[in-house]
Amino acid sequence: MTTTTEETLEWRVTGMDCGSCAAKVRGAVERFPGASGVEVALMTERLRLHLDETQTSRTEIESAVRGLGFGIAAKGQPTERPKGAFVLPDDAIIPLASAPEDAAAEDATVEESGWHQTTKGRMLIGTGGLLAVAWGIELLAGGGLAHWAFVIATLLGAAPIARRAFKMALAGMPFTIEMLMSIAAVGALFIGAAGEAAVVVFLFALGEVLEGVAAGKARQGIRSLASLVPKTARVMVGSQPREIAAAHLQVGQVVQVRPGDRVPADGTVIAGRSSVDESPVTGESVPAPKDIGAEVFAGSINAEAELRVRVSRAAEDNTIARIVRLVEEAESARAPTERFIERFSRWYMPAVVGAALLVAVLPPLVGGAEWSTWIYRGLALLLIGCPCALVISVPASIASALSTGARHGLLLKGGAVVEAAAQTSLVVFDKTGTLTEGRPQVTDLCAVSDDESELLRLAAAVEHGSSHPLARAIIARAEGLDIPPAQDAGVLAGQGAFAMVGGLRVTVGAPRLAEAAGLLPPNVARQLAGLEEAGKTVVTVFTTDRLLGLIALRDEPRADAAKAVASLAEMGIASTMLTGDNARTAAAIGAQIGIAHQAGLLPQDKVTALQALAKGRRVMMIGDGINDAPALAVADVGLAMGSGTDVALETADGALLRDRVADVPGLLRLSRATMRNIRQNVALALGLKGVFLVTTILGVTGLWVAILADTGATVLVTLNALRLLGFRPSSH
Ligand code: ADP
Ligand code: MG
Repeated sequence: MTTTTEETLEWRVTGMDCGSCAAKVRGAVERFPGASGVEVALMTERLRLHLDETQTSRTEIESAVRGLGFGIAAKGQPTERPKGAFVLPDDAIIPLASAPEDAAAEDATVEESGWHQTTKGRMLIGTGGLLAVAWGIELLAGGGLAHWAFVIATLLGAAPIARRAFKMALAGMPFTIEMLMSIAAVGALFIGAAGEAAVVVFLFALGEVLEGVAAGKARQGIRSLASLVPKTARVMVGSQPREIAAAHLQVGQVVQVRPGDRVPADGTVIAGRSSVDESPVTGESVPAPKDIGAEVFAGSINAEAELRVRVSRAAEDNTIARIVRLVEEAESARAPTERFIERFSRWYMPAVVGAALLVAVLPPLVGGAEWSTWIYRGLALLLIGCPCALVISVPASIASALSTGARHGLLLKGGAVVEAAAQTSLVVFDKTGTLTEGRPQVTDLCAVSDDESELLRLAAAVEHGSSHPLARAIIARAEGLDIPPAQDAGVLAGQGAFAMVGGLRVTVGAPRLAEAAGLLPPNVARQLAGLEEAGKTVVTVFTTDRLLGLIALRDEPRADAAKAVASLAEMGIASTMLTGDNARTAAAIGAQIGIAHQAGLLPQDKVTALQALAKGRRVMMIGDGINDAPALAVADVGLAMGSGTDVALETADGALLRDRVADVPGLLRLSRATMRNIRQNVALALGLKGVFLVTTILGVTGLWVAILADTGATVLVTLNALRLLGFRPSSH
């Protein structure tokens, strides 16, 4: 949907600690005319939507969100208010330390400044103080006076909550935790349980603070990625380095990177030779040698000697910034389980309210039981009704998993991908560049006329028009030779390349091309078969009427390919290699790695082969992200493998940044662990509710246990999700 008046807008929304908060924000802004495509990401605190500003203004959106008690600022502006400029809104009726509007605005600083400086923190201190005073009065004066002290403590503490509940009800969301809380607190006052009501209000405030701290921890996981890039850079002005902010570096500037420094920007080495630890960016722990012309990533660490680097990307689109953005965006691609839970909680809340009503009313009416007992139990049920723990169970686990993945060079674009990956039963690999190094070397030259350098020169001339790894290998081998110019060059995807060289039309390509042209005599065919059985890829070089010769190349399997395929098998996952190479070469390489294979496939054949394999099972496809794009798109999960290349990052459902096959089982392990974590979380959330549901109805537990059960479960679920931050995909 793109009309000229519509714009995509983005805000940072703070104060969303509870899973249902995201749904609240979405619900509040979705109602506006002209607002569509609303995305709310809980962990990254982002709100994004398309807005037709002729119908609804930005400020209307902002005040709606603020009205619910969240902080909001257009992307790029700080959400925190400057110190000293703390303004109470005109309609502030809240007798506590501050208005709820400001609550969220300051929660952005939870991680940095400590919980007690947030408004939720002050609410906790305020309600705690009131409770203590009331208890003091009970001890000293007792009786009636104490009762009223508790009533006042409850009312003061519950007022901001009730106000939020009211605003949300006006925004079309009557069933919120705030509403349940307010009814329960006020209801308890009516049945004379003032002391307990005050405790409930205090525990609610405590829960909010704990949830905020836990959610802040999960967010830090993602943000810490971005903080890997140094703040300053030493830019060369003439021959002198000068220190400037890394964010201000411009493309083309040259920076000095001393040994031990972090590289401040993506760029190309123009002087020096060193080894660079790229583990912060790609997760690869073996330092990579860097020489003139090599690419370096912002955030990696220069290990040995000084380097001069020419900046190739501005700060906002360097590799690490794009990884962070990817992980953030991934978060709003919700997993199917998450969607299900959201739908579930939509009817769950009203159902709980109905059940609470029945519990409060039926036994006294039907069985003549005592009213106050059953109203009390009904109120406790209301508190059990908050689905916070349940709703946060999925996004918390997914956010942890995504940031753990990113730290190990495994990028996944969202919960849906994690969920699909966890169910994978077959992994399909592309051969060249994925299972093999992708750097073939010319091993044999067989010229029909015995002039091998002539064969190589013609082949290299043709291959100048191709970017295929085989082409690069042939050109590399011809270095130093005098290459004739070529005209009208073209490629036959997955088959070869051709061009006019010195008045001859020369083709370099798969043997089947020469065979189809009738240019492959039996003795050459036998020689060719021998080379292929040795695991070499053979290309034929021919003109329109005669064969010039054969060039054999060998691309070594990656060192960890065999082991990775074996560990997939151990996990019960089958693997298959698809290749455009011929059957004999494929068989030789396949045997070396221990993998099933299908050979001789043109790019479109790979798609049909994949579709045939996908019958009845979940398939993950790993390719190099460039010529395998169609096959990657067809697979349930398509992953690009390649060290931080542009294409690899943006195509497919995810990317493996390190050139390691072992990252495939690693990623599957992480996905499975994540789904396990989610199942634990759902079980924990629902289980605790179930237990306290029963104990409440039986009258074993009361109001404050009910509220503890909810906030406690939320905190447990978040803590459990945080365990994933320490998951190591490579070990098991
Ligand atoms: P893979 O499936 O292993 O990635 P491709 O589909 O890219 O392989 O290529 C399949 C075959 O086509 C190669 O083994 C080679 O015989 C031939 N071929 C493709 N491109 C070229 C080229 N530029 N020069 C020579 N041969 C080529
Ligand atoms: Mg390929």
